[in-house]
Amino acid sequence: MASYEIEYHNYDVVVVGAGGAGLRATLGMAEQGLRTACVTKVFPTRSHTVAAQGGIAASLSNMGPDHWQWHLYDTVKGSDWLGDTDAMEYLAREAPKAVYELEHYGVPFSRTEDGKIYQRPFGGHTTEFGEGPPVQRTCAAADRTGHAILHTLYGQSLKHSAEFFIEYFAIDLIMGEDGACEGVVAWNLDDGTMHVFNAKMVVLATGGYGRAYFNCTSAHTCTGDGAGMIARAGLPLQDMEFVQFHPTGIFGPGMLITEGARGEGGYLTNSEGERFMERYAPTYKDLASRDVVSRCMTLEIREGRGVGPDKDHIYLHLNHLPPETLNLRLPGISESARIFAGVDVTKEPIPVLPTVHYNMGGIPTNYWGEVLNPTKSDPDAVAPGLMAVGEAGCASVHGANRLGSNSLIDLVVFGRAAAIRAGQTVDPDTPNRAANKAAVDAALDRFDKLRHADGSISTAELRLEMQKTMQDDAAVFRTDKTLAEGVEKMQAVAAKMDDIQVTDRSLIWNSDLMETLELANLMPNALATIVSAEARKESRGAHAQEDHPDRDDEKWRVHTLARLDGNKVTLDYRPVHLDPLTKHEEGGIDLKKIAPKARVY
Ligand SMILES: Cc1cc2nc3c(=O)[nH]c(=O)nc-3n(C[C@H](O)[C@H](O)[C@H](O)COP(=O)(O)OP(=O)(O)OC[C@H]3O[C@@H](n4cnc5c(N)ncnc54)[C@H](O)[C@@H]3O)c2cc1C
Repeated sequence: MASYEIEYHNYDVVVVGAGGAGLRATLGMAEQGLRTACVTKVFPTRSHTVAAQGGIAASLSNMGPDHWQWHLYDTVKGSDWLGDTDAMEYLAREAPKAVYELEHYGVPFSRTEDGKIYQRPFGGHTTEFGEGPPVQRTCAAADRTGHAILHTLYGQSLKHSAEFFIEYFAIDLIMGEDGACEGVVAWNLDDGTMHVFNAKMVVLATGGYGRAYFNCTSAHTCTGDGAGMIARAGLPLQDMEFVQFHPTGIFGPGMLITEGARGEGGYLTNSEGERFMERYAPTYKDLASRDVVSRCMTLEIREGRGVGPDKDHIYLHLNHLPPETLNLRLPGISESARIFAGVDVTKEPIPVLPTVHYNMGGIPTNYWGEVLNPTKSDPDAVAPGLMAVGEAGCASVHGANRLGSNSLIDLVVFGRAAAIRAGQTVDPDTPNRAANKAAVDAALDRFDKLRHADGSISTAELRLEMQKTMQDDAAVFRTDKTLAEGVEKMQAVAAKMDDIQVTDRSLIWNSDLMETLELANLMPNALATIVSAEARKESRGAHAQEDHPDRDDEKWRVHTLARLDGNKVTLDYRPVHLDPLTKHEEGGIDLKKIAPKARVY
């Protein structure tokens, strides 16, 4: 058995992750006097949230009429009727409060002439329950909104007594005999020491798993570590088949050009110079929701109307916009286009292609962020001692497709909700249960086995095989055949983890070992994604199944649950929450307004 010296820590709450969701939760927990530790593998302000550009949605009505019920309607429709109505209501209602709170914490939002928070249009955000013109709902700090939010939240967390463990890699959850979580085991990357964080509540805020794909907009650190830990603990992952392709990644390197570019008046053209979105989405055109725009772009390319020598991408035009607007509202992406595409946005169009961007699926939770361990008799049963927030979680507010600017608001609304809930359920005066020694030993054994792995395939090679498989077989369009082949290929790829080769055995800044631990986390994410996708015989949101082109609400308006046992994935389903939090008579939405219908933009 592996033998490592362990340093023990004792807290009320340990938050894993210091992106927008992790920091908002950490701040809220500490504010309530809970002894809180935040463990993060990268420096907080290097979390992927820092790259968020376009903005954060809330119905503030600063630029024209808006209402939380319109935001709720748009989110329901955006989710293609797969989101949980109670969670979506909570998001839309709490959003303005959460944004004002950010303003008071010090986020430097862009301003209107009269000093209010500036808001821009974003895809799928409308007025009058989808009957009116696009709404300006997305609050922005130029095109560096995530940067502004993350720096502000980190500063605020430091002001309270939250303790940070920076560049500590969480390896596994410590699960008690009775299934309650008792903490995490972590590795200090900087000095090689091992740590047990014993806590009454563990909050997973580890972000998405974009890196399961070859082309994505997310950072190299987005490796689904939280979901990996959950899968190893025998808990399910939800709706993993829904992977969002953002319409405008820069062709080639994949860097994001924010949807705010189209919000500010940008548009897409094909090789004939045609603004083709007018044909597919006559009302909202380039501001239809992301899954719709990505599919239309892919169709144009397939039908031979792509641009460039190989007719394999699309143009995004900003060159008709006044240079002052570009400079004021979109300075960051103007720079990205120059550096990564060699394009001067004031003169030429940007070459773009749909690129993997966001994971709608993740760790199932209720709208308080409590992790679910559904059973047949109780599909909403809670796994004690565990929460998940941010992109790692699935509350589910994005259902089958997330609207732009609805993630940043998800981070702060549910980070805050988790803290409120922990304030009610975690008692600082009761002593912690001791951390299950068998679980700690199992985590260290797994770590040690990978550290000394002496197989024949390198981590980089195997990661590439996984990424190419996912890119080819779980793409914008899917068929019975590509998915069935993909499942088989992914099983073969995942099996090769047993033959992995790690060359560096040291414990200090061993990036080879860290990337291997990350790959071991990406694998269950990728497997759950492709197996869940293969099983879903309909098209909904980001899951466009060509052999089953229609949405089938009767059979498939259900959440997928994928449990892993090694590489074996077992699927189950749980009902979508159809009831809102507030009855119509008491000021809630009229359910007739959000009844399922065809999704046209
Ligand atoms: C380029 C880009 C632009 C975007 N723009 C927008 C936008 O304008 N509006 C919008 O609403 N959404 C946007 N999104 C989506 C949104 O930014 C993300 O969904 C969101 O930032 C995720 O935040 P998070 O807090 O869940 O995770 P992250 O910000 O990814 O943070 C994850 C944290 O977990 C930690 N972590 C992970 N694994 C471990 C481990 N094993 N041990 C210890 N720590 C760990 C990391 O250190 C990090 O601190 C964008 C996404 C991208 C990629």
